[in-house]
Amino acid sequence: MSTSLLYHAFGVRGYRYRRTQYVAGGIVFHVTQEAESYRCSGCGASDVAPRGRVQRRFRGLPIGRRAVRIALAIPRVACRNCGNIRQVALGFADARRSYTKAFARYALELSRLMTIKDVARHLGISWDVIKDIQKQDLQRRFAKPKLKHLRQIAIDEISVGKGHRYVTIVLDLDSGAAVYVGPGKGGDALTLFWRRLRRSGAKIAAVAIDMSPAYIDAVGTHLPEAALVFDRFHVIKLFNDKLSQLRRDLHREATDRMHKRVLKGTRWLLLKRPEHLDPKRNEPARLQEALQLNQSLATAYYLKEQLGEVWEQDDQESARDVLLDWIQQAETSEIRMLHKFAQTLRAHAWQILAYYDHPISTGPLEGTNHKIKTMKRQAYGFRDQEFLKLKIYAIHESKYALVG
Ligand SMILES: [Zn+2]
Repeated sequence: MSTSLLYHAFGVRGYRYRRTQYVAGGIVFHVTQEAESYRCSGCGASDVAPRGRVQRRFRGLPIGRRAVRIALAIPRVACRNCGNIRQVALGFADARRSYTKAFARYALELSRLMTIKDVARHLGISWDVIKDIQKQDLQRRFAKPKLKHLRQIAIDEISVGKGHRYVTIVLDLDSGAAVYVGPGKGGDALTLFWRRLRRSGAKIAAVAIDMSPAYIDAVGTHLPEAALVFDRFHVIKLFNDKLSQLRRDLHREATDRMHKRVLKGTRWLLLKRPEHLDPKRNEPARLQEALQLNQSLATAYYLKEQLGEVWEQDDQESARDVLLDWIQQAETSEIRMLHKFAQTLRAHAWQILAYYDHPISTGPLEGTNHKIKTMKRQAYGFRDQEFLKLKIYAIHESKYALVG
């Protein structure tokens, strides 16, 4: 071991190597600092007077599986410039950390390949230290996402953890990165985002959301110039939910036992795309039977198939025709559920047809949601809200694919 190896291999520069000690499978390098290199850690001045020392040890880069510690007596100095008495600044470790910068960089590299648990075990250090290293790195890189360049965004809430905990996420649809993570759901969760967005001066052209009134209000208030685009899959899902409800109601109201039996197992058949019905399990025939017995169910099912067409047209004009035709059919039916849905679509025809000006959706957020779920399964439940937020910001980089 030597002073220069200490520098080149372990990133400890400006210290003199003194001796090596072997303790319980680990290695301790004792180093000292020359008095002429003392600097005030407050103001950087060199006009300082020694005021004793504080013994400290830092985790350094391991040698193989052996833990390495750097031990030194850190001088305390009285600064003649700013009047403070404190420990001198260290070149190789951040303030208040018990590991060297080189150790932190190594832990981060391992974090790209392993979970926090794996890295902690490999380096023989606690889970909290590795998490802390990751968190600092994420804070440095993602604490304040830039909003200035935003043009098209998607907003949606996702559930994290048990007990219906939610976070609301704003996704930059051009880069795929989450640019805001707010606590809870609904309009309130976005308050801070609007403030930051206003300050950034970004010009948002279009926003993809589901049909929730809270988001419609919030976007209408804060981005009156932006086009609101209803996510097509949310619209279709909403209709599918109504269709399931209709089937349930019909099933409940049916008095005939045979009728009841036919309706019983049809929920999934109704929601399946017709081309996915399995003839081997008699699915097309079973669906047919149920539809023939129930005129209203047949009407609603037919309209379910038609709804998707609104988004499959060549241009906005044809889409408008398809949508208006759909609304008319629903309105002339005898079914209350369809009337109500037609009303909703009529009220929001613009936000549905806006898809042809801005073909965006909240779909990319589903991808983010999926990755968060994968992270969660491996993590300690993300009790640290700030850490979870930073992880979501970092998701599109997928540098730390794993967490737990
Ligand atoms: Zn000073």
